[in-house]
Amino acid sequence: MAWKGQIKTRAIVVRGIDYSESDRIITVLSEDAGRMTLLARRARKPGNPFSAVSQFLCYSEFILNQGRDFPVIHAADVLESFSGISLDMGRFMCASHCAELALEIVRENQPCENTLRLLLNALYLLSRGLREPEFIARVFEIRCMSEAGYEPVLNECAACGREVCSEPYIFLAGKGGLACKECAGICKEGIPLSSGAVKAIYHASRARLESVFSFRMSAGVSGELKRLGSVYLPRHLGKEFVLFSGNEG
Ligand SMILES: [Zn+2]
Repeated sequence: MAWKGQIKTRAIVVRGIDYSESDRIITVLSEDAGRMTLLARRARKPGNPFSAVSQFLCYSEFILNQGRDFPVIHAADVLESFSGISLDMGRFMCASHCAELALEIVRENQPCENTLRLLLNALYLLSRGLREPEFIARVFEIRCMSEAGYEPVLNECAACGREVCSEPYIFLAGKGGLACKECAGICKEGIPLSSGAVKAIYHASRARLESVFSFRMSAGVSGELKRLGSVYLPRHLGKEFVLFSGNEG
């Protein structure tokens, strides 16, 4: 990112490593600059104010100076640390999964307001124990794919545009949506889905961000979406993910 002087931005830490004797290098998602790598000088020194803001999942307002290799944190104020997440292994595993996915789809110098808002909403619900981690993970995966440009096609056959076949619905991961009867018959890799799962995908991919987590999902539907995600995510993001499951946590 090219700029002169200082910039101010709100961002969340999604990755961090210790660097040299006292510094940390963190990767953040900034609402207006996308993925950024920042240097937090002396963040490893006890009592240093940058120690807190360079912690995983801490959301802060940063003032940054241009540095030689990376922007350098000049000042920062914690907005939300989501401290409740570290109280429970399931919450933490789910939050890590969401952060990894968000990091995967956000690019440098590309505003990511929606993805950041989605992540903050998920972390808020997790940190306060308001929704089950498994539910958060399934909704997050679907919505993340939509934000990355892979919103599932549900109203017509994703392969040919004809009317989709009814229950069991067949999802073609490579085509990115539901299939008609003919295409479902030709493609042997279709993933069967119940109408409940299709409704959940519809809501997760299309609801307004502030209400994307405001619905219920049965354990059966959650299992269907996990099977779908295990194929759909790597197919389009080019990377295998360990999909969080509350049952295994
Ligand atoms: Zn078709």
